[in-house]
Amino acid sequence: MGSQLGQKPRILVVGGGASGLALALSCAHRGVLVRIIEKRPSRSLIQKATGIAQGSWHQLARFGVSEKIISAALPMRHFVFHDDDHLVANVPVPFIQGKPPAYLYPQGSLEIAMEQALSAYGVLVEYGVAFSAVEQTDEVARISLSLANGNSEVVEVDWLVGADGIHSNVRSSVGIPFVGKDYRENWSVAEISTQQWPDNVQAQLFLRSNGVGLFLSQPSSGVIQGILNGVGVASAMRERFPDAELHYERGFRVSLRRVPTPRSGRVWVIGDAAHVQSPVGGQGLNLAIWDGVTLGKALLEGDNSVEQRLARRARRVLLFTDFDYRMLATRSNAIRFFRNQYWSLASSHPWLARWFFKIISGI
Ligand SMILES: Cc1cc2nc3c(=O)[nH]c(=O)nc-3n(C[C@H](O)[C@H](O)[C@H](O)COP(=O)(O)OP(=O)(O)OC[C@H]3O[C@@H](n4cnc5c(N)ncnc54)[C@H](O)[C@@H]3O)c2cc1C
Repeated sequence: MGSQLGQKPRILVVGGGASGLALALSCAHRGVLVRIIEKRPSRSLIQKATGIAQGSWHQLARFGVSEKIISAALPMRHFVFHDDDHLVANVPVPFIQGKPPAYLYPQGSLEIAMEQALSAYGVLVEYGVAFSAVEQTDEVARISLSLANGNSEVVEVDWLVGADGIHSNVRSSVGIPFVGKDYRENWSVAEISTQQWPDNVQAQLFLRSNGVGLFLSQPSSGVIQGILNGVGVASAMRERFPDAELHYERGFRVSLRRVPTPRSGRVWVIGDAAHVQSPVGGQGLNLAIWDGVTLGKALLEGDNSVEQRLARRARRVLLFTDFDYRMLATRSNAIRFFRNQYWSLASSHPWLARWFFKIISGI
């Protein structure tokens, strides 16, 4: 795998989100300056993830990202869980390897810090440049790009990495299937400011017997993100926080899909281009970062095992997030009973939930 002996591989990364930035950082840190393109004219300010796993902080630490921003992140210490408005559990989150399993921090701010670290290595994200097509031989991938000024460009590289999100053009250009299902529900996400959020709690779930759940988390002090597996999350949040000031609300759909393998010849897909899932398990961003760092290192070291490792980890994470979502959104009284008993016990014996937080930690 890789370019000729002793030569640095030429790599083009499509997508300036978390997975693309992570791959570019992983390579730049080892002295290989990749080209990274982003079709938007500037960084997207749409907020998505709020939970950054311990494993991601650990991976980003070697690029100088974590230590700069971790003091502003909120360690996950307690999460509170209600069912049909009855308090089921207030769970003290157990430490994993001596640290909180995750910190709350806005994805947009994390990506800005990653991009700054990348520019310190001398790599700048090229905004307004879009991938349009790829042809490949055994030796090379030849890629057509559309530039912001309307011109086009053709580049030749050893590896093309599609980090271009759920609707990946790179994935469809090389015909990698995206296998799975779409959840039926329409989801909504909103962010508010409030002074009424309880102290020392970082996440709250308000589940209902009809299967609709409100998932609240605190990406930064005084700011709360709500996700509902239904429409109308902002009004559900206003009911709980009458002082709410709405920052935004939008709808989205959720799928559970992944590629059978992330590689087709000289082309790879990572992050949401390779797997998507419910946001409930808080794993998409963390898996995207893991993919980028892991593939970057493997491409430079010629490690062929990476193809199976990427596929295996995605399969495991999707199993977990689907299980997690089914448990939270169940309408079965029997499953609700056992779920609630379990979390109620875990609130007095946090070690019972250690396996759960170990997965969340990504360690
Ligand atoms: C509401 C919500 C909440 C979430 N909460 C969490 C959470 O708490 N924890 C967690 O871990 N995950 C969470 N996620 C998931 C997480 O946000 C995603 O998994 C993550 O953003 C994936 O990163 P990515 O870089 O792979 O893709 P993206 O962030 O989608 O980035 C892809 C980039 O590629 C660019 N692009 C696309 N096509 C082209 C092209 N042709 N040429 C050039 N550029 C292109 C796009 O403009 C985009 O910038 C959440 C998601 C949502 C929707």
